[in-house]
Amino acid sequence: TLQDRLNSAFKSLRGKGRLTEADIDATCREIRIALLEADVNLSVVKEFVGAVKHRARGTELSGALNPSQQIIKIVDEELVAILGGETRTIRFAKKPPTVIMLAGLQGAGKTTLAGKLGRWLREQGHSPLLVAADLQRPNAVNQLQVVGERAGVHVFAPEPGVTTAGGADQPTGDPVLVARRAMYHAQQKLYDVVVVDTAGRLGVDEELMRQAAAIKAEVRPQETLFVVDAMIGQDAVNTARAFAEGVGFDGVVLTKLDGDARGGAALSIAKVTGRPIMFASNGEQLTDFDVFHPDRMASRILGMGDVLTLIEQAERTFDAEQSAKAAAKLQSKGGSDFGLADFLQQMQMVRKMGPLSKIFGMLPGMGEMKDQIANIDEREVDRIEAIIQSMTPAERDDPKILNGSRRARIARGSGVEVSDVNNLVNRFMEARKVMSQLAGGSMPGMPPVPGL
Ligand code: GDP
Ligand code: MG
Repeated sequence: TLQDRLNSAFKSLRGKGRLTEADIDATCREIRIALLEADVNLSVVKEFVGAVKHRARGTELSGALNPSQQIIKIVDEELVAILGGETRTIRFAKKPPTVIMLAGLQGAGKTTLAGKLGRWLREQGHSPLLVAADLQRPNAVNQLQVVGERAGVHVFAPEPGVTTAGGADQPTGDPVLVARRAMYHAQQKLYDVVVVDTAGRLGVDEELMRQAAAIKAEVRPQETLFVVDAMIGQDAVNTARAFAEGVGFDGVVLTKLDGDARGGAALSIAKVTGRPIMFASNGEQLTDFDVFHPDRMASRILGMGDVLTLIEQAERTFDAEQSAKAAAKLQSKGGSDFGLADFLQQMQMVRKMGPLSKIFGMLPGMGEMKDQIANIDEREVDRIEAIIQSMTPAERDDPKILNGSRRARIARGSGVEVSDVNNLVNRFMEARKVMSQLAGGSMPGMPPVPGL
């Protein structure tokens, strides 16, 4: 998956102090393969990787982030930019009704979306009308009526026998006529938003485009939304292009994001059409729907969970110089220069970022450790702080001098048992040994904190 690829690409950057040209090339190669595997269109991949490479070269190394994080940040920012940057939703007409037309292939999720939009609009105080202008598929009108009922929204449907011929289950009427009547109805009954559901085909074909274009010309929508199944991958680009040319659209709705699609389609469509993705559908229920958030989709494509949030926080709160000094101490002389004072300082820096359970919860791969994370005891950390603060500077620098009477004094001073002091010192010494052997092997972006 893209996530695995990027993770392994970034792993090779971990522990390096700066980005070399070779690093950038190697990483960009991985990002390229990863995006292609996520079904992002080739030309989009090329352009994207080019932009990332250009920025990676020109970027000054930030003290707060390691090289891997720096590239993640660049990749994320570029993804968000392509995905439209800001969230954009429906522009309402100055003079109602606002008309929203849905177009897309059969099975893309248009009818389902009509219900979701209806409910969403109603919740915002609008009075929407759904229009059944799909007279192609058997039962399509009925499907919209069912969806509308669940959403608590009225549906305008062709009268049987007037606009349909060939029986109730095989309507072959004129959808343009239905659309015209629906508009008249909406004006009469003061609906302020009209959502027009249209027919789709299994593939792109001319008749479909002509019909959609004719409905569009009739209802003159403020927003024509191209509805596309996020799972269709590479085909998404061709389909989007065909609809852009044949019908034209103002925005995109991605559906079936509850599947395992990584979002390659989103990236390709946004880039190729230059149209904003406005909504995301992620399930069959009416509530499985949200406005589209470019930043969240970027995280999804990167497969990095909230690690980006963590990076932001790290940038804000880390004293990079201090962290670098501590790391250097750990990496030389078997770590013997790294004392308890350094440990305390680093631990306090991490705590400034928020509750430990939250910080660990945001690290990728920590999802499986949910239970342990929930059990991180902040009071235990308070106790550790108290113990270290009861030590003299000499003791913090060199815990080896901590004999029995010193330990007893520290325990009294910090209100703990001697066994707690012993525990801390033993764990610290053990962890320092391990960390100094794994030079640079600490968590990306995490200051070196033995034992964490
Ligand atoms: P249309 O042909 O474009 O009108 O597509 P429909 O609205 O009839 O949807 C086709 C199928 O996809 C139906 O079974 C829907 O329940 C399902 N569907 C629509 N949107 C989503 C979604 O976001 N997630 C999932 N899992 N299924 C969806
Ligand atoms: Mg439909």
